[in-house]
Amino acid sequence: MLALPPGTTMREVRLFNSKHSSVFYFVWIASLFISFDLVLSDFSCGSFVAIDITFYLNEDTVFPFEGTFSLEPLNRTVQPFYKSSNSIFTNEHGGTHIDAPYHFNPHGLRLGDIPLANLLLVDGVIIDLSKKTENCPEYAVTVRDIREWERLHGPLPDRCVVIFNFGWAQKYTNSTVYKGLLSSDESDVHFPGIGGAAAKYLVDCKKAIGVGVDTLSIDVSSNVIAHQYILGGNLFALEQLALDRTVGVPARGFKLIILPMRIERGTGGPAHVVIMVDPSKYPLVTPPGLFRTTLPDTDFTVHIECTKRN
Ligand SMILES: [Zn+2]
Repeated sequence: MLALPPGTTMREVRLFNSKHSSVFYFVWIASLFISFDLVLSDFSCGSFVAIDITFYLNEDTVFPFEGTFSLEPLNRTVQPFYKSSNSIFTNEHGGTHIDAPYHFNPHGLRLGDIPLANLLLVDGVIIDLSKKTENCPEYAVTVRDIREWERLHGPLPDRCVVIFNFGWAQKYTNSTVYKGLLSSDESDVHFPGIGGAAAKYLVDCKKAIGVGVDTLSIDVSSNVIAHQYILGGNLFALEQLALDRTVGVPARGFKLIILPMRIERGTGGPAHVVIMVDPSKYPLVTPPGLFRTTLPDTDFTVHIECTKRN
């Protein structure tokens, strides 16, 4: 793959259906990306597999505590033409969603003000701690875990989103197991998260613009220390990512597309999150014995061409 050469910009994106290898969609996005030239100066041209790591938002969506989602018909007509619309109600923090800094930081960015440059085609890394949570369901990420990842994979990239895979997404279909409830007390939750020192490290190292987890919260169980450090440092947090779909995704060298609703005064909100990975680094065929997905197969290939700017 070629890095974007000086004087060029991304001009087009072609989406290919990976199963049928036929072009089904073609989008010009030159005007969208021209303003991102500086941000995307290290962006590579070529083909990418897009992997959706978003759970559906529906009545089964897992919310902390009292949260709910509902969808009710608002309008249904058949004659003289078919028309249908719904009303939806949802808490901001449920299912696959983003925490804006404003969630725990009165001076932090509100959801609608998080810059697009921090959400669109940003570098991602995955720190896989799923083995550590097998015997320790309330495992707290340590600074040592992050440093060990850096020893194996190199320093965290600038302006990256650090995603922790606790092996928790597979539990999502059973909310009691996912929340780690041990009694009928809905607030008595038990799951892994980011320890306070690790959260502080991620803010202080100034490499991360956000973090992500596959659990209900970036914190261990009902703690809030990671929320206070991460959001206090004006980073955002992605929670309840469908990381069961990331089998085969490399620990680094992929991009993220994070598109929450632009709720102006939001403390967070549902987000559609997609990983873009070089197909040569990602086996499309699921390795034998590995659980891959609870979601429909929505992977497809995106081709980004670099052309000379006039
Ligand atoms: Zn949240």
